[in-house]
Amino acid sequence: MLLDKIISRIKNYQKFLLMIHEDPDGDTLAATVAMYLALKKLTKEVHMVCKDPIPKPFLFLDESKRIQKDILFGDFEVIIIIDCGDLKRTGFAERLKKFSRVHRNLINIDHHPKNDLWKIANINFVDQKVSSASELVWQIIKKLEVNINREMATAILTGIYTDTGGFKHSNTTPETLKIASELLNYGARLKEITRNVALNKSVASLRLWGVALSRLRKNGDLQIVSSVITRKDLADCGANYLDLAGVVNLMNSIPEARAAILFFETPEGQIRASLRTEKEEVDVSRIAKLFGGGGHKKAAGFTVAADLKLNDQSWEIALK
Ligand code: 5GP
Ligand code: MN
Repeated sequence: MLLDKIISRIKNYQKFLLMIHEDPDGDTLAATVAMYLALKKLTKEVHMVCKDPIPKPFLFLDESKRIQKDILFGDFEVIIIIDCGDLKRTGFAERLKKFSRVHRNLINIDHHPKNDLWKIANINFVDQKVSSASELVWQIIKKLEVNINREMATAILTGIYTDTGGFKHSNTTPETLKIASELLNYGARLKEITRNVALNKSVASLRLWGVALSRLRKNGDLQIVSSVITRKDLADCGANYLDLAGVVNLMNSIPEARAAILFFETPEGQIRASLRTEKEEVDVSRIAKLFGGGGHKKAAGFTVAADLKLNDQSWEIALK
């Protein structure tokens, strides 16, 4: 069984690198922190790497402060990629390809659809039906038979909480809630999670949300709601693009909307789109794929080179 294979790899090796995806969210971060804690209990040498900065709401998970921005891969025996969705999103595509050729010890833990990581990973522990990568890491931790502590339980619950939107999304299965209940029994601090993850907005961030909401547009035929945020908006509000996390979910709370799309200018001047839907028959990952991105049926994203024109409340985006 796949899980047994992973357990024996973990038992047989000593030096591990855990890889978080770029633009990290709560699932990739918390699943990685939980895995880090479990491997440390087994006295392994473990490092965590993420190309991008860690969003403030997740710094309450103490070990997230140990995440490095870059690291040499050569010293590691096993690399575990967590929640990455595709090779590009690891932020270290070329180095990973080389590592997989030389060491043949790449484990991919994910809940995204099949992608180019499958070809280079030596073990693909992937299940699209689970809410989060954190659920998969939980399966591993339990099978490892380490002493599970509060920190591990809190991290796993953080990952589940963020990827299910606080148990609101349709990826919340009976198993998800069973695990959440188990985690609470292990002492997971749900209140600390909600306080840090959901109820933790700055004035700058709420002003920015206001700008996005004021530009909300509803397409009559397609029933798609959309909005846009520029780099100037960020500067005007004194906000950071990480402050945008969650806006698209709020836009998607209009019952008749078939999908919600938030466009925003990245620091590099590209246009990034965040897509959400609540509709059974809509698959936003198909739209994202058309533009070189990807994701889940209900939450997806892409980044493109495009021109953005903004006049008062009206705006236009044209691919370059
Ligand atoms: P978000 O809108 O929160 O940035 O992204 C929602 C989900 O879409 C992510 O959890 C991820 O699964 C997926 N996603 C976002 N951007 C990309 C992308 O550029 N490529 C791929 N493959 N998936 C993406
Ligand atoms: Mn995830």
